[in-house]
Amino acid sequence: NRSVNFNRSELKTKLTKPVALPDNVEHGVEIEYADLKVFKRWGIALVFPFRSVQDEIFGFLVLGKKKSGFRFTVEDIDLLNAVRSKVATTMERNKYQKELLIEHLENERLEELNKIKSFIVSRVSHDFRYPLTSILMFTDLLKNSENLSIEKFHDYLKIIEGESNRLKIMVENVLDFSKIEKGIFEYTLEEINLNNLVDEILSSMQYQLKMKKFTLYQKLCSSELNICADRIGIEAVLINLISNSIKYSVDKRVLRISTGIRNGYIFVSVEDEGIGISKDDINNIFNPFLRGQNIDAKKIRGAGLGLNIVKHIMNAHKGKIEVTSEPGKGSCFILLFPSYEIKEIK
Ligand code: ADP
Repeated sequence: NRSVNFNRSELKTKLTKPVALPDNVEHGVEIEYADLKVFKRWGIALVFPFRSVQDEIFGFLVLGKKKSGFRFTVEDIDLLNAVRSKVATTMERNKYQKELLIEHLENERLEELNKIKSFIVSRVSHDFRYPLTSILMFTDLLKNSENLSIEKFHDYLKIIEGESNRLKIMVENVLDFSKIEKGIFEYTLEEINLNNLVDEILSSMQYQLKMKKFTLYQKLCSSELNICADRIGIEAVLINLISNSIKYSVDKRVLRISTGIRNGYIFVSVEDEGIGISKDDINNIFNPFLRGQNIDAKKIRGAGLGLNIVKHIMNAHKGKIEVTSEPGKGSCFILLFPSYEIKEIK
């Protein structure tokens, strides 16, 4: 068995007869004359082109000399012609079926993508309206209220800033999700002081915590905790978890954030005393678009993308997420980062 790479553009495409060296076929067999040098070098005696229904050559049946040493007879050529035409039909049918299958799979993929798109558009664009309405309303108040006290002025600005941040998180989730789906979410590793990062995020979310009247308990490890991570990615993870705690706490509004070291992992935990997650839901909440099924969770708006993004980013950091939750009591999400230096992550 040998294989030859040939250049399609240089092929003689008008071949209809078998190509052979005259010495190898019986007198009277119609042939195209072969290139002596090429046929000798490769030990070829006879070549039949495979033609498609559109009359294009798409392959060849290549034969060496007959074992008996005799020339190919007219009957041999007839038989080989029959074999060639059978093989050509089968190969063409297979090729056609393969193309059909690929087309079918591509259509399915496009259909799925379209479903996801319309889902995102319908669910997320609804959610965008709420912070946008607040922003427009308070901007209007700033512009049109006469004799506005300086305190009120700053309060309104804070609201606009906070609502803009809320909107930013929503937009970023959609963009991150689409990047993750396409496999183009990029990670840039650097050494990050986890306690500082938690501090920064909490102060950027202060407005939301204050508005919702949350009590915040912060228990950060006294020693410096450095992780090797993508800053933007980990920020997105923490912001999603904290936003969820804010969103899914109805009666008791308590947020506990701790950092520390456990079993060789550096951890940060986000804990609330909100509506909690049922055992059935816990297995699904990290899947895209899946949302908690209990009545309280259903009343709260969301696209079901946040935790899926959290899972992807933590996996890329070779980290882990643990969840413990009890309906009506609250939930605790723990992020665990390997404490050794990660040199390379995908
Ligand atoms: P979304 O909040 O947009 O639905 P997520 O992916 O962030 O999407 O969360 C998926 C589901 O997990 C939510 O619909 C909710 O049921 C549940 N969940 C997440 N965090 C909490 C939490 N802190 N408390 C209660 N339920 C939560």
